[in-house]
Amino acid sequence: MGPDMTSYDYDLFVIGAGSGGVRGARVAASMGARVGIAEEFRVGGTCVIRGCVPKKLLVYASKFSGLIEDAQGYGWTIPEASFSWPTLIANKDREIDRLNGFYLRNLKASGVELFESRAVLEDPHTVRLEGLDKTIRAKNILIATGATPYIPEIEGAEHVITSNEALHLAQLPASIAIVGAGYIALEFATIFAGLGVDVTIIYRGPQILRGFDQDIRDALASELGKRGINIRVNAEIVSVAPQEGGYAIGLKDGSALHTQKVMVATGRSPNTTGLGLGAAGIDLGWNGHVVVDDFSRTSVEHIFAVGDVTDRVNLTPVAIAEAMTFCETLFNDNPTPVDHQFIATAVFTEPEVGTIGMSEEEAREMCASVDIYKSRFRPMFHTLSGRD
Ligand code: NDP
Repeated sequence: MGPDMTSYDYDLFVIGAGSGGVRGARVAASMGARVGIAEEFRVGGTCVIRGCVPKKLLVYASKFSGLIEDAQGYGWTIPEASFSWPTLIANKDREIDRLNGFYLRNLKASGVELFESRAVLEDPHTVRLEGLDKTIRAKNILIATGATPYIPEIEGAEHVITSNEALHLAQLPASIAIVGAGYIALEFATIFAGLGVDVTIIYRGPQILRGFDQDIRDALASELGKRGINIRVNAEIVSVAPQEGGYAIGLKDGSALHTQKVMVATGRSPNTTGLGLGAAGIDLGWNGHVVVDDFSRTSVEHIFAVGDVTDRVNLTPVAIAEAMTFCETLFNDNPTPVDHQFIATAVFTEPEVGTIGMSEEEAREMCASVDIYKSRFRPMFHTLSGRD
């Protein structure tokens, strides 16, 4: 027989204070639960600290070069524009600090107890807070530890950077090769190209942005090309070796290229290593993700997981929606599944991509006949700038 209810320190203990964890903790507390949360790095998680938010600020910064060019068609002469990467990074970091403070205050105001420590499960109800030399007991547990960049096994992998480091480079490189052609690779390609860096995308498949509608993939590849981004498809990286002024990249076909920096953006791995999930009896999937049902419940009745650690649809608003339905299920006695169909998504390239629902290819698989409505137009802004 398990311990009785009164022996629990918390009704809910959340591991990981990112978008999903913070939302789950705050909403559960607002529903009357006694809630604790542990975070080993900084409250805010990937999206706020080293993802969406800093990325978006850098995307804004990268747009000015194009705008300055476009201004000429509107009669402006801008004599000498110059750009300071250190200023941008310092200002970006200040904004991230501000948001981090905002998240901390919000957690406190909602009555959630924060532990700035790594948390490890000792058994299905006991959490050890490493570094604080403390264990707590929780009636329910929510795992929201997110994911971390995955680096493929290539010779010289220790020389590559990921988006984590790209947000903190001391200097802007003259050239960068980016491996992968998904969200992160293409967004950072846009950022660097807009800031004047010579960018090469190295992608193993035949066209960028796999999984998106073919028309969108083709159109985006063409537009990125017009902005000076060199896209190498059907190209597999096998090695990275230091070379005067940068690195030599070896490709599978035997060719090589030189670049000052090498970044990989080849997906992310769920953060489940060393969390004691095995000790708690939680089932993990093929890439270490926490396996959950439609209600975000793991193989252990009172342990739930939301966000990237579950590797369902890895987007911030989805983690938040999963946290909301989790609270509704557990604390409002109203089992609510998460609806993962038709999620709108945006890729912050230049131009941006927005999609929702099926791609043409998926529609063709499901339906005998599919009508396509397609329109190409030049935004009015570009009639005088001369761009497409
Ligand atoms: P993605 O899954 O979007 O893209 C990964 C890319 O890396 C793909 O082009 C993939 O190729 C390639 N790749 C994977 N494994 C290898 C390998 N072993 N060798 C070579 N290439 C490889 O992941 P990201 O890292 O770009 O982003 C991670 C997640 O973060 C995304 O799933 C996304 O949900 C989220 N995100 C969302 C953003 C937004 O909403 N705007 C912005 C940034 C991230 P292939 O297609 O052939 O498999």
